Amino acid sequence: MARKIVAGNWKMNKTVNEGVQLVEELKNELAKVDTSDVTVVVSPPYVNLSEAVKTAQGSPVNVSAQNVHQEESGAYTGEISAQMLKSVGVGYVIIGHSERREYFGENATDIAKKVDAVITQGLTPIYCCGEVKEERESGNQNEVVGGQISSELFHLSPEDFGKVVIAYEPVWAIGTGLTASPDQAQDMHAFIRDFVSEKYGQEIAEETSILYGGSCKPSNAAEIFSKKDVDGGLIGGASLKAEDFVGIITAFN
Ligand code: PEP
Repeated sequence: MARKIVAGNWKMNKTVNEGVQLVEELKNELAKVDTSDVTVVVSPPYVNLSEAVKTAQGSPVNVSAQNVHQEESGAYTGEISAQMLKSVGVGYVIIGHSERREYFGENATDIAKKVDAVITQGLTPIYCCGEVKEERESGNQNEVVGGQISSELFHLSPEDFGKVVIAYEPVWAIGTGLTASPDQAQDMHAFIRDFVSEKYGQEIAEETSILYGGSCKPSNAAEIFSKKDVDGGLIGGASLKAEDFVGIITAFN
């Protein structure tokens, strides 16, 4: 069975002190609930990672980066490698978020290489895929998501593919307040699992965590998470307040 995961993506929010405070609040709130079945992840901006890792120590909170550069080192001004992320104690890295694809021009080749770099360092990629509004409206969502996954992940060996977490994030639902209906989420997650199964077999497909992302909040998380192929969520806006994020984490209970 796939691991249940709730991962927060803070995006470009929170100073170092605000980030430490949020992790402290999460620790306090999570101490009151049973999180044994759920992996909890937060993804602060790069400059907060070190302090977030220190603050999260000894708690159920794991720390992820929001991006990575594909090369190990070199003349790439402003970039951060997977090796550097590992050195601060990060365990996860979000790769291929739609905002990186749209605003920073990340393409399939970059994303495939980033996945490789992260796996090489023993970190877990949280790989994002999803269709834009026009693609959903024309009924092409499966072709789009299948195309992303095959060009960005299917070069991996079965062993390495087993280390990837997939986040299905319909772009039209990110930060818009529009959420995929639980049935739309389930349909796509089932499609992704079948697609993975055809390539890597049923066992790997069943163990792959497939998260839903897009305006998920405490009021809709339980219904979305109750769907058979939804193994958790990648949460943007609602991960910035401990109370909301914990409300989503406990939606599994
Ligand atoms: C995201 O950016 O990954 C996301 C899901 O954002 P939001 O929850 O704010 O829609």
